[in-house]
Amino acid sequence: MRWYCPGCWCDFGADLARCPRCGLDLHGFWDSRDYLEKLILALDHPEPTTPVRAAELLGRLRAAPAVEPLQRLVRASADVFVVRAAIRALGAIGTRGAHEFLRTLTDEPARWIAEEAARALDAAGRRAAAQRLDAPQSGQEP
Ligand SMILES: [Zn+2]
Repeated sequence: MRWYCPGCWCDFGADLARCPRCGLDLHGFWDSRDYLEKLILALDHPEPTTPVRAAELLGRLRAAPAVEPLQRLVRASADVFVVRAAIRALGAIGTRGAHEFLRTLTDEPARWIAEEAARALDAAGRRAAAQRLDAPQSGQEP
């Protein structure tokens, strides 16, 4: 797993408290209210690795406010890696709207988009099933 600095977008292999490059207080930034807004703004960054990283983080955070901007990115971006990251993030966020959008993508004429969307839905389905297994069974109170 890679970690990213949302200040300078360098990546590193551990959950560090401070960015080794720009010194940003990473944990403080994670906790700040406008963190999501900044990640969402980064989806429109002109350098394509930045939207890819922002999408990965938004997916990991299951950021529901990012669903609309990610959908727009899937439609608007000409970059395969950006579109792929946005599709995966939508699967990870997993709101009803995100999954409905992914289901419409499975009919895309562009085959790689349809396959990526199907994979994202599949992964989300497996996560949901695992969570159900972890949840306490109902109706077993003594
Ligand atoms: Zn940094």
